[in-house]
Amino acid sequence: MSLIVIVDDRVTNRNIFAKLAASIEQDVSVQTFGDPEEALAWLAGQTPDLVITDYKMPKMDGAEFIRQFRELPSCADVPVIVITVYEERSFRLRALESGATDFLHSPVDHHEFITRARNLLKLHKHQMLLASRASTLERELRVSEHNRERALRDSRKSLAQVIDTLPVMISAAGYDGRLLFVNANHIDFVGLDPQQVLGAHVGLLFGEEHGARSHSLDRMVFETGRPLPSYEEEMVGRDGEPRVFITTKSPLRDDTNIVSGVLTSSLDITARKRTEGHLRHLAHHDPLTDLPNRTLLRERMRRLIARARRGDQPFALHLLDLDGFKAVNDLLGHSAGDRFIKLVGERLRGAMRSEDTLARLGGDEFAILQAHVASSEDAAEFARRVLETVAGASDFENSGLRTSASIGIAIHPEDGIDGEDLLKNADLAMYRAKAEQGNFFCFYAADMQARARNDALLDGELRRALENDEFLLYYQPQVNLASGQIVGAEALLRWNRPGVGIVGPGVFLNRVEENGMIVPLNEWVLREACREAYSWQKRGLALRVGVNLSPVQFRKRRMPLLVAQILGETGLAPSRLDLELTESIVVSDFDAVAKDLQQLLDLGVHVSIDDFGTGYSSLNYVKKFPVDRIKIDQSFVRNLSTDANDAAIVRAIVTLGKSLGLEIVAEGVETAEQLARLRAEGCDEVQGYYFGKPMPADEFIALLDCSAPLAASA
Ligand code: C2E
Ligand code: MG
Ligand code: MG
Repeated sequence: MSLIVIVDDRVTNRNIFAKLAASIEQDVSVQTFGDPEEALAWLAGQTPDLVITDYKMPKMDGAEFIRQFRELPSCADVPVIVITVYEERSFRLRALESGATDFLHSPVDHHEFITRARNLLKLHKHQMLLASRASTLERELRVSEHNRERALRDSRKSLAQVIDTLPVMISAAGYDGRLLFVNANHIDFVGLDPQQVLGAHVGLLFGEEHGARSHSLDRMVFETGRPLPSYEEEMVGRDGEPRVFITTKSPLRDDTNIVSGVLTSSLDITARKRTEGHLRHLAHHDPLTDLPNRTLLRERMRRLIARARRGDQPFALHLLDLDGFKAVNDLLGHSAGDRFIKLVGERLRGAMRSEDTLARLGGDEFAILQAHVASSEDAAEFARRVLETVAGASDFENSGLRTSASIGIAIHPEDGIDGEDLLKNADLAMYRAKAEQGNFFCFYAADMQARARNDALLDGELRRALENDEFLLYYQPQVNLASGQIVGAEALLRWNRPGVGIVGPGVFLNRVEENGMIVPLNEWVLREACREAYSWQKRGLALRVGVNLSPVQFRKRRMPLLVAQILGETGLAPSRLDLELTESIVVSDFDAVAKDLQQLLDLGVHVSIDDFGTGYSSLNYVKKFPVDRIKIDQSFVRNLSTDANDAAIVRAIVTLGKSLGLEIVAEGVETAEQLARLRAEGCDEVQGYYFGKPMPADEFIALLDCSAPLAASA
């Protein structure tokens, strides 16, 4: 229904206009006024859809009427038609200025009146509709904006709640090591006040030492923009109990994709570790005696063999079989038999040194790995003691039984180079011992006197070799993974043995360590390697030389003094020398060795831990070691792609080493696949047959001249 208001002082006009207006549409209500003031008063309470007004009226003219009308509430947009007899522009202008929408000329043409009025009415309705739609839209928008804000606020809050209730310790830190965020779980673990933590240095949360390590790992993430592979670490909470965590670090990026922080999350895996440890124990131990089983024995042999490769003392495998155990079982029954085995196991265990391994292989068979056997006499003496120990178990449970055992001995490396060979040969020797009516031990194959004679002969040959200059050095290239360039070489000792040819250190190194020749020999190696490296230096080649030092030599000589002296003699820059030591060097006297190592570093030479991972030191230990490089042992590199355990060890070594600012070198790289993996893990340098076997110095120099970047081409 449309409301049309007509204002005119003349009755006739009012009537005509009212009639015309009523015919515009079906549903029209028309209101007419003779007096504009009356009309305004009425309009204050109604909003019309169209106003038609005369211009010339006695009390106020049309312009004034429109002005006042426009001021009424919601009348600003209502169309107003002015009817006038005047054609002058000044009237029209006044009317327009006061807000008229259209004009009709008097006398009014009826058809024109209806058309104009109808159009204005329609236009107005459309405008009203549009306005109402716009305001609805606006309202809806306002509501949804509000809802979105609330939803966002809610989701942030619930996210924070989720993060707080996760059973994971989560924190984030900025480049300067200040904490940006710490979740409730972590705060609870360390027992701090949440207010203290934000903005504090990570050291507050993790403790000074651990904090420094975490901070330098964060820096790696900032620099690479990539997450770190996860690693295991130990942390101690407010209850003082050490717990094991698996920790990941990943970059946090801001809106512009710049790394603005590093998120550290640590999952407590102590329980899982314990279970794993338990399962591992079960897998590696004999349930009856709780002694290591065959699997663990093999693993221990693998370690000893890895160490023997670099000339550690030989070790002996003793295979022990009880004599007459069948009688115990037959006479006293199986459970007594079990008790007997347990008793023998306990007695034998009492006779072991901590570095030896006693294992039960099954039935009445035991094996003993005797580490550090200087001579076969050592092994014989040990076997005698073991036989006595077994005899001591006689008269078991007052049964009147006499007990004894037979022992077969195989010595590494003479009697076998791998575990299987050694087990087989010790077994053969054991059967020979049994054949002697028991309570007896036998060496595999060669008898003891022949062994001793051989040793003496070899000693003589080696002594002459040193006098006759039969020793020489081979060099194996070391390649930097970032540049692909050869950056150094490891000097490896060779003996040009008359009648035999070039032989490696495996053949003679343990002899020269045993007979003391290692001291002059290795001094020769050091001098010779420095001399050779000085010739590289003179040619302007940026190369380092690695020299292996023997633990024996380290104990007997003031190494820092000797090194300083040889550097002075040869003119080699200290930074071009890299001394390789094995972990076993520190077992005896950590403090004295640490002091020497520090002095060597102070001289400016590099110090590497060789064959890292095969020795005694845990990753934690290396932190206290004054060295600047680690060489990951080749046994881990060999199985990198097949053994998940080895891959994890390599990853842990690299991660920890890097956080301590050490350079990481991997040895024994033979394939492109191993190389790719080592590169992915973040190794700095590599060495192995893939790039070149150990070779004479001139071949090494020739290789340098013709090799384009090696690692890059791989
Ligand atoms: P090392 O210091 O760990 O030296 C690496 C050994 O691994 C070298 O054996 C080298 O030839 C070998 N190797 C290098 N790349 C590969 C590879 O890709 N695959 C395989 N299967 N083997 C690779 P080498 O020359 O027989 O030396 C054995 C050990 O003897 C050395 O182990 C080192 O501990 C010791 N040694 C060598 N020269 C000296 C020396 O002048 N003084 C002392 N004290 N020990 C030395
Ligand atoms: Mg080495
Ligand atoms: Mg090595």
